[in-house]
Amino acid sequence: MKLRFYNTLTQKKEEFEPIEKGRAGMYSCGPTVYNFAHIGNLRTYIFNDLLRRVILENGIKLDHVMNITDVGHLTSDADEGEDKMLAGAKRENKSVWEIAKFYEESFFNDISLLNIQKPEILCRATDHIDDMINMEKKIEDNGCAYFAGGNLYFDTSKIDDYGKLARLKVEDLQYGARTEIDENKRNNSDFVLWFTKSKFGDQDMKWDSPWGTGYPGWHIECCAMSSRYLGEQFDIHTGGIDHIPVHHTNEIAQAEAAIGKKPWVKYWLHGEFLVMDKGKMSKSSGEFLTLKLLVDKGYDPLAFRFLCLGAHYRKQLMFSWEAMEGASQGYKNLKNRISELMKNEQSYDGDKKRSYYLERFSGFINDDLNIPQALALLNDMIKDNKLGSKEKLDITKHFDQVFGLKLLEKEETDIPEDVLALADKREKARGEKNYTLSDKYRDMIREKGFEIRDSKDGQTIEKL
Ligand code: AMP
Ligand code: ZN
Repeated sequence: MKLRFYNTLTQKKEEFEPIEKGRAGMYSCGPTVYNFAHIGNLRTYIFNDLLRRVILENGIKLDHVMNITDVGHLTSDADEGEDKMLAGAKRENKSVWEIAKFYEESFFNDISLLNIQKPEILCRATDHIDDMINMEKKIEDNGCAYFAGGNLYFDTSKIDDYGKLARLKVEDLQYGARTEIDENKRNNSDFVLWFTKSKFGDQDMKWDSPWGTGYPGWHIECCAMSSRYLGEQFDIHTGGIDHIPVHHTNEIAQAEAAIGKKPWVKYWLHGEFLVMDKGKMSKSSGEFLTLKLLVDKGYDPLAFRFLCLGAHYRKQLMFSWEAMEGASQGYKNLKNRISELMKNEQSYDGDKKRSYYLERFSGFINDDLNIPQALALLNDMIKDNKLGSKEKLDITKHFDQVFGLKLLEKEETDIPEDVLALADKREKARGEKNYTLSDKYRDMIREKGFEIRDSKDGQTIEKL
């Protein structure tokens, strides 16, 4: 089946046809590194990861870029609120640079625990200030910016289809309806490209620019960095659904104003939110759950990945501890069934059945990433008695390149010294053909919660 995605821009499922045949350019909005990522953020990165794995599974080469926001993002996605990095620095009594470094490392650690593949390019906003200034100059040269009150603003009235991604009607946006009024703005939807005089006090992070010393508005970084690494026009842009009305809307306006070409990006894909019964999880309010908390409660990070895979990316995922427990059990059961298959690898002539499963799998994943259906297919396949365990394992390995659940990796269990000692004694007894004694040791080991299995390569010990 051909690869199809739901495109937020056209509000339709469309066949994926990259600009350059056989190669996709993809940009994902990354973390703002002023606090730990919460499990909602992590759901979005798992969605990005599934998307990249599905593209690769289709034999398409991929250039995936993700930014690290370490400057310019205010607590509101529009130009209001506090600077997030500064808020983090104040909270922890550290410099903004220390905050950025610490939370960037914590983000890398989280994605590694979740088996999220690193994008080909990970880039920091603070390393690309020149690219941002150059793009802002182009926007100004093309007549889409104005300078007022010490800041450079984007003039949204110069764009005939401003808001097309979110189907926003500019005339419906009440001036100052949501937040305090910025007297410098000509239009309600205008936004800052470059701050010099700002209401947020003196910044540690500031650079010279044609408009004075200051720092960039948030939205420009994604345009500048995607343009540097993927070219002026590219295939896919992703993020969470919260980015549709402001951040991505403004990204499109800026990029199309700067390059003078349309469309900037062909396919826009957005992941729905992870929610809790209490409502929204918010990094800036400090009320959120982290991966570390799940691990501290004894959950395998991949059980959280399994939970996310069970819901389609365009549907909300309601997080609860019951759901997490269910996913943890489900993941353990799946791994146990697979390790049973590994103990007894036998092959049948399952060729016809094999291609049936591979085709159905590709049908599901290529249909706008229907991973929940693909997981259900994995379960059916494991139960199918027309396939031998060898085929089942081969197919599981193939599917797992997309799932990323490490399904064929054995758990590393620490085996206590006394169990190891009993196992040695059992092996010795077997060597002496004293099976009554070796069975006695086996029972003693079982009582301690371990099982001994014999294979042609000797005995193995597993946790019961
Ligand atoms: P941030 O670090 O706040 O810039 O957010 C990083 C990513 O997480 C963005 O793509 C957001 O759209 C996404 N995001 C924020 N909250 C949630 C949530 N509750 N569920 C899923 N994704 C989220
Ligand atoms: Zn972005």
